Amino acid sequence: MKYDMLLLRFGEFILKGKNRRRFEKSMKRHVMSKLIAYPEATLVEEYGRMYVGLGGHDHLAVIEDLRKIFGIVSISPVKVTASSLDEIVEASLDFMEELNPVEGTTFKVKARRVWKGFEHSSHEMNHLVGSPLLRRFQALKVDVRKPNIELKIEIREDQTYLFFESFTAVGGFPRGSNGKAMMLLSGGIDSPVAAWSSMKRGLELELVHFFSFPFTSQKAKDKVIDLARVLAGYSGEIKLHLVPFTEVQTSFTQIGQDKLIITLMRRSMLRIATMLAEREGALAIVSGDSLGQVASQTLGSMNVIGRATDLPLLRPLVMMDKSEIVKIAEEIGTYELSILPYEDCCTLFVPKSPATNPNLRIVEKIEASITDLSSLIENAVANTETITLGGSEQTQESSAIEEDWL
Ligand code: ATP
Ligand code: MG
Repeated sequence: MKYDMLLLRFGEFILKGKNRRRFEKSMKRHVMSKLIAYPEATLVEEYGRMYVGLGGHDHLAVIEDLRKIFGIVSISPVKVTASSLDEIVEASLDFMEELNPVEGTTFKVKARRVWKGFEHSSHEMNHLVGSPLLRRFQALKVDVRKPNIELKIEIREDQTYLFFESFTAVGGFPRGSNGKAMMLLSGGIDSPVAAWSSMKRGLELELVHFFSFPFTSQKAKDKVIDLARVLAGYSGEIKLHLVPFTEVQTSFTQIGQDKLIITLMRRSMLRIATMLAEREGALAIVSGDSLGQVASQTLGSMNVIGRATDLPLLRPLVMMDKSEIVKIAEEIGTYELSILPYEDCCTLFVPKSPATNPNLRIVEKIEASITDLSSLIENAVANTETITLGGSEQTQESSAIEEDWL
């Protein structure tokens, strides 16, 4: 099928009056950045809707790229014709010809007269188009309730649009439209999925990764940078804070409380992330925790760990099964990287039986007994290296778009 345009449909956010313009701006920018790969394609805005003129590009290829854009719920490829009865009937016949319906295919025509100056009402148009279709295609039957093909016809003043297919897209909120959070990114399977899920919900993220040279290797760090790059494909430019965690971590290894070491490390990670959040103006911390997955993710552990921060701790995967998480990881392109076998700082020094129900008072006592813990934490923040990923290309894109849309 040869199509002329794509109709983009948006999700729940579009209803929110006050933010609407801001959301639309963010959507446009994101769509434009994907269209860079299709030089003949154009973005057309009309009556509060967004269309993409295909300019000869294959509709399936463009849809495959656009359906990953947060905020788009579905995409319909559209044929365009002139707004006259003859042309509309002719285009509908051609349309059906290409669909080549098999015996018994059910259909209905659903016309919408947007341009009230058009000579026939929507209701009349259903018949004026439906009848010639039935005459030409013996295989067709009308079914107004649940047809196989619902041919939609939108009659506008300058053009009429015909479409019937709809491809589902990712949904969610426009990128960066719901505030900023710090994302705890390990090299594992879960946290990149948690990151993507947060971005889908409109969160702008800054990524925070803890590494422990020489216990963790350069390769482990590179892997996290690669993961961040994949995430930048969804978010646009993104910051990655690399926190040297060796000194904080080793301060916990000498105290003869091996069972609590993960709890202690996690609490320190949260303290550091909280300080970075304050510095960067972020209002929450996101982790890849999933209830019951490992000892540090029991309810008892989450309780004691979570108390180390005053910020909301968001856990997008908390109720998800591993198999669901893996499925998303595969779809978003992080899985293959995540399963590369490099060590994470949390898998080091892991005791055989870590506490699943740590005692908050004991944990706080241990922390108080480590005299220089708060300065170790401050040092880690001070020595954090920040890199920006997904940069140059995105910047060029947005400055080109700026002129058109801002
Ligand atoms: P993941 O697959 O995300 O590593 P996991 O099942 O291995 O998760 P844990 O290692 O217990 O779980 O980590 C739980 C969460 O703590 C991670 O999802 C991540 O948000 C955070 N985290 C763990 N290690 C690090 C790290 N080195 N740097 C930043 N965050 C981390
Ligand atoms: Mg991990």
